[in-house]
Amino acid sequence: MTFDRRIFNFAAGPATLPAEVLQQASEEMLNWRGLGCSVMEISHRGPEFMALYEEALHDMRVLMGIPDSYAILMLQGGGIGQNAAVPMNLMPLAKNGPKADFLVTGIWSEKSFLEAQKYGQAHLVASSKDQQFTTIPASNTWHLSDDAAYLHYCANETIGGVEFQEVPDVGDRVLVADISSNILSRKMDVTQCGVWFAGAQKNIGPAGVTFVIVRRDLMGHQMAITPSIWDWAKEEATQSMFNTPPTFAIYLSGLVFKWLLKRGGVAEMERINLEKSTLLYNYIDQSGLYENRVDPRYRSRTNVTFFLKDESLNAAFLAQSSSAGLAALRGHKAAGGMRASIYNAMPLEGVQALVEFMREFERRA
Ligand SMILES: *Cc1c(COP(=O)(O)O)cnc(C)c1O
Repeated sequence: MTFDRRIFNFAAGPATLPAEVLQQASEEMLNWRGLGCSVMEISHRGPEFMALYEEALHDMRVLMGIPDSYAILMLQGGGIGQNAAVPMNLMPLAKNGPKADFLVTGIWSEKSFLEAQKYGQAHLVASSKDQQFTTIPASNTWHLSDDAAYLHYCANETIGGVEFQEVPDVGDRVLVADISSNILSRKMDVTQCGVWFAGAQKNIGPAGVTFVIVRRDLMGHQMAITPSIWDWAKEEATQSMFNTPPTFAIYLSGLVFKWLLKRGGVAEMERINLEKSTLLYNYIDQSGLYENRVDPRYRSRTNVTFFLKDESLNAAFLAQSSSAGLAALRGHKAAGGMRASIYNAMPLEGVQALVEFMREFERRA
């Protein structure tokens, strides 16, 4: 089998996966580890699947440097599910009734802020909505509460292409980070946040599994109404198997972890992602046709948004890029324009091909 006909897929999620991983999965599909059946067809509680699950947990711990004081949960319901699960599990820790702080820097953190209002007081610390979510409000304008259980922020706004380059400094307050689209793309000091969560389908594997990394002392404080499948303490006690877990998504994520380890881990990914995003931003900045509108201090390394200054060329740009094998460059409908999602599985050659195409398109425009 060859990969000659694989496209460069810039989709935001579900997103491109490493071809080597897909090939391995296809080779193992009918006969996984000599069992004579696929990994999808065995019990999640049997020794074979449990071994795979433990390996995936171990590899993720190594890749992200997750200390034992943090649990790793593999849940369902996506990042959107955690928008409800986080307040239900953590808000009771607030001193004067359920409450949490929210930093709103894009569509995703805004969704988290709105969902949390069902469970307690959601306090808006700062928002960049008036700047069309193109920046992060300066920290000296933030109105932090003294009685909130935690501060929620989105480390990488997938739609706007805005990324925190550092974990915000909020003293000893508990931080909750939505890292759905930049998990494993750069080094992160896990101890700087109380909770990190991410769905797999952006930068890891297929949709269906959501990784939640929780400091152990933050578990066990959930509201009585918390559904058992999103009760972190209950899930930890049952090894994320309070109900049937998404076994195939966990298996494929595990293969991606091995692929990452073989390629030098997160430090090496960070190096390549910096190279890829710098190449693209530098090209956009010097071009006469394209523009990126994000505050250069906060440009995302994984989701590069850009606009054609002549928007009447949008349809031609999308049609021609797609026929050139550069797929899914249309921006999110809430943002317009274009977006190139260049996660770990997008090789440098894909970004080089995109820049070449953009240069040629501009020349002809
Ligand atoms: C995609 C995304 C989500 C939502 O993930 P689902 O798996 O669809 O629930 C949440 N936050 C961010 C930053 C995302 O990119």
